Amino acid sequence: MNKYEKSEALFAKACRYIPGGVNSPVRAFKSVGRNPIYIDHGKGGHIIDVDGNEYVDYISSWGPLILGHANPLIQEAIRAELEKGTSYGACNAREVEMAALITQFFPSVEKVRMVNSGTEATMSAIRLARGYTGKDKIIKFDGCYHGHSDSFLIQAGSGLATFGTSGSAGVTDRVAQDTLVATYNDIDSVEALLKRFQDSVAAIILEPVMGNMGCILPAPHFLQELRSLADQYGVLLIFDEVISGFRMGRGGAQGVYGIQPDLTCMGKIIGGGLPVGAFGGKKEIMDALSPNGPVYQAGTLSGNPLAMAAGIAMLQQLSAPDFYDRLEERATKFEQLIRPVIEKYPEELSFNRAGSLCTLFFKPHGVASNADAKQADTQKYAQYFNAMLEKGIYLPPAQFECMFISVAHTDEDFEKTAKALSETLAEMFG
Ligand SMILES: *Cc1c(COP(=O)(O)O)cnc(C)c1O
Repeated sequence: MNKYEKSEALFAKACRYIPGGVNSPVRAFKSVGRNPIYIDHGKGGHIIDVDGNEYVDYISSWGPLILGHANPLIQEAIRAELEKGTSYGACNAREVEMAALITQFFPSVEKVRMVNSGTEATMSAIRLARGYTGKDKIIKFDGCYHGHSDSFLIQAGSGLATFGTSGSAGVTDRVAQDTLVATYNDIDSVEALLKRFQDSVAAIILEPVMGNMGCILPAPHFLQELRSLADQYGVLLIFDEVISGFRMGRGGAQGVYGIQPDLTCMGKIIGGGLPVGAFGGKKEIMDALSPNGPVYQAGTLSGNPLAMAAGIAMLQQLSAPDFYDRLEERATKFEQLIRPVIEKYPEELSFNRAGSLCTLFFKPHGVASNADAKQADTQKYAQYFNAMLEKGIYLPPAQFECMFISVAHTDEDFEKTAKALSETLAEMFG
């Protein structure tokens, strides 16, 4: 009997009606050489597929579910709001509460606008940066992902790295010309671009902790040096904290590293599992947005009351004084259990962790850059992924993605994972 029978049938049907059978490419499981699994429901740190197989889930919806699946307070908040209606295309009290909450988490954010995805947040932030500075070009970093809008699909990590393409068909050369690509953790590469394009760079945008080439940490002083260069050249510094925001710590990566960006992009966690994004920053810059200023930006469902209710219920729980200690305790426990297993194979593996984000790379001797990450053995990753899946551990279906630990993961989950890992690596490397 095939234990994935219902998933297989659903995927076969999906392929008739949906391009590639999926609504987002990495879900196709292509880079791990199998068909996707269809999830029926989630509970805490676990997901259960349509065939009834249960897994310890390390994707956590790619980040949003930092409290685990089916969080009761978020569900309750959505239910209560749902009773009243779903959308008005008009102002509502929840969006005001949400905006005020966000500014409490991020001192650099004086004003914030809600959108419906991380893609919209970054896309809008660079339009604002261009409109505000009157300059055209942006600097991004090789391997950083900022959603799928045209300007960013240039050396953009994860999905693109997985499929071995450096960009996307349909992105015009003219758009690509306005995106300059620097090397993460290499401040000289940024300065060289700023010198060369002095008067035409509007903004530098980056993931302060990289989460889309696997987890890669910023080198000491890198973020501080970027802040200084941005000031020196009159360029806005934009932190894309769609992953790191509300995860690295209360004030995101900018809080942990003590850097104030000019604009911050948010998503994922902020929606409590519903589709939400946001971008915000200095009052003076944000007020360049329509209807106050000349930069147009809008959204029929932006600030949607159901999504706001879910997000508020999420952020309220993250406001508990011990929340980030509890999250770090979980992530540390996880590392304590799996690190001894990984260290048996120093010629095969490296492990990076930034708080509750981590990646096991099938590349020895550390991964400190995008170039290092690219050396990882994706065939071996696929083998590992499939073996772990069989043992009830659901991992990112691509080498260049992070694992997301939540406070709902239990000691038992971690022990099961460490045992599965130990068996898998022994099978693979003897
Ligand atoms: C996921 C992600 C995005 C895009 O968010 P979507 O909600 O998928 O559009 C942008 N930036 C970063 C850093 C991300 O990880």
